[in-house]
Amino acid sequence: MQIKIHNTLHNKIEDLKPINENEVLIYSCGPTVYNYAHIGNIRAFLFADLLQKVIKVVGNYKVKWVMNITNIDDKTIRDSQIGSSAWLEEMGEQTDDLKENLSKFTKYYEKKFFEDLKIIGIDSADLFATPRATEYIDEMQKLIKSIYEKGFAYPSDGSIYFNVNEWRKHDTYGKLKKIDFDNFKSNLRIDSDQYDREQVSDFVLWKSKKGNEPYWDFTLDGKNFPGRPGWHIECSAMEEKLLGLPFDIHTGGVDLIFPHHEDEIAQSKAGFGVEPTYYFCHNEFLEVEGEKMSKSKGNFYTIQDLINRGIDPMNIRFALLSAHYASVFNFTFEGINSISKGRYRIQDFIYSLFEENYGEKSIDVEIIREKIFSKLADDLHTPKALAEIFSLINSMSPNELNKSTKESLIELFKELNLIFNVWNIEQKKQVEVEIPDEIIKLADERIAAKAEKDYTKADELRNKIAELGYLIKDSKTGYEIIKK
Ligand SMILES: [Zn+2]
Repeated sequence: MQIKIHNTLHNKIEDLKPINENEVLIYSCGPTVYNYAHIGNIRAFLFADLLQKVIKVVGNYKVKWVMNITNIDDKTIRDSQIGSSAWLEEMGEQTDDLKENLSKFTKYYEKKFFEDLKIIGIDSADLFATPRATEYIDEMQKLIKSIYEKGFAYPSDGSIYFNVNEWRKHDTYGKLKKIDFDNFKSNLRIDSDQYDREQVSDFVLWKSKKGNEPYWDFTLDGKNFPGRPGWHIECSAMEEKLLGLPFDIHTGGVDLIFPHHEDEIAQSKAGFGVEPTYYFCHNEFLEVEGEKMSKSKGNFYTIQDLINRGIDPMNIRFALLSAHYASVFNFTFEGINSISKGRYRIQDFIYSLFEENYGEKSIDVEIIREKIFSKLADDLHTPKALAEIFSLINSMSPNELNKSTKESLIELFKELNLIFNVWNIEQKKQVEVEIPDEIIKLADERIAAKAEKDYTKADELRNKIAELGYLIKDSKTGYEIIKK
């Protein structure tokens, strides 16, 4: 089925036409591993995962999906130098080697990140590569050198900056966002990793070493620039190395549109001479209780925070997929609870499909499949796809369906679960409860009393068993004990 997706480059929904016939190449801006990911971050990764799953299952393509790990920036450097118990306990002592500390610190949070992905139903085996920035320093230096040699970069105070004004003479700067060049300050240089999303400025490609920071040597024009890469250059270098340019789709949250992705386009085009990608796809923000997440408001939830509050992570996944990725998601505890009921209703329907009760009714499952898949193909419209699923389960009782219809529906839900990944596609498991020995002893005494026709004693024992929380049912072969 033809996949359509909103492309920020043209601000419209377009047919996905991949470069290769059978394979779609996707690059997702990954996490900066200095802390646990919060649900706002998770939404961006869930969006990328949804995209690659729909492309595979509905579009019938293979996917090569790359997500980078930013393991060097202001925050990772800062926090790897402060002793904090959690990462040190697992990763060992801090040493005098700053690069080693940074590596231990970021590997700890990288591990936690992949654990969170797994909990939320994202299989990291689907990722072709998860490159760490510090392992591609050579590629980044090569790219900076190329940009510099073409005249689009200049050194200043030991750092190297991209020259936006010079670049504008050759190509558009502002392909993703309309830029107000009247307010452009050509002498303003930004080298912080915390970017102002409105401010247009020359941005840093290579940052001069400051104080006690880990650094790499970098010779340019016969001069050494000890320092480290800027954030934007990481992605440009790694996507070229791992996917080749141009690739098909670049994903990220809307907060990355400017300046991160805009700068990536400029750098890649300046250094490699080609546009990096044909489709830029962005997911909207997540708010908590109608407010932007922030540390000061204390509404910053990690996956673990939510699990500690008793929320099933599959309900978080289902809730996030119940909204369209391009709309702001308002996370509330009440909302999660009520949306979860929809997940359970679908689950009950699936369980009923496995029951060996059949009726006469038959339906054309292929028509239903087409309807649901067409919603997913149309800009990943999960809420519309779920509405189709609800209209299916509301329109019938599974036990009036004949055997082959039930089997076809099971196959359909297996396929849908390759995307939604929130249901068990199997027979409902009977919950096995271990019966304490004490109860079994009382039950045996009751059987003996009955055999002796001492019904008063038998009734007393039944009551005693009931007081302890169990029900006893007589059966042909003896008795059955059930937990109340
Ligand atoms: Zn990036």
